[in-house]
Amino acid sequence: MGNQDSATPTAATSMRLLRNQLTQPRPTNPEATRRATRVHGAPVVDLGLLDHLEETRTELIAATRRANPNAGPAPVDEGIYAWSDAATAHLQPGERQARDVVAHRQALEHALRVGDERVIRQERCPGCRCYSLMWRGTIERAVCIQARCRDEIGRASQWELKQVAHHHVTSRPQRAAN
Ligand SMILES: [Zn+2]
Repeated sequence: MGNQDSATPTAATSMRLLRNQLTQPRPTNPEATRRATRVHGAPVVDLGLLDHLEETRTELIAATRRANPNAGPAPVDEGIYAWSDAATAHLQPGERQARDVVAHRQALEHALRVGDERVIRQERCPGCRCYSLMWRGTIERAVCIQARCRDEIGRASQWELKQVAHHHVTSRPQRAAN
């Protein structure tokens, strides 16, 4: 039944936290405050967060429909991850891989947006396969702290979230869908 290593619970939980932020009093996060806008006493809405949620939704629907063109209508809330998981559960791991990479990358993105950088330390470095990644928000990349793990010009190796997610999905044990 499905894939037990799916990012679905994490992604859905993180998305719910994000959606809650839309209706909560603004946090003191300077990044969020800078992007926020206020309209005559109305609650402050983080437009960047709204955009983020809309983009992730559109992207996940597209990835799901590429894997399964017969997937039905998608929920408008975090239930979209369970919908996507169910729509692709019958596929072989290779057929749902691209969808899984998108869902896992979104899980990481959601967590980072609420300030939870622990998710990066739970990922293996694609270069040396160690649990040695730290999130560096200024460059929006995970950086490896292993001294011997360097890129081609001698810097500490750096990875975009999509690379970290791809490595996570492709290096986990393959389970047949049955
Ligand atoms: Zn490394």
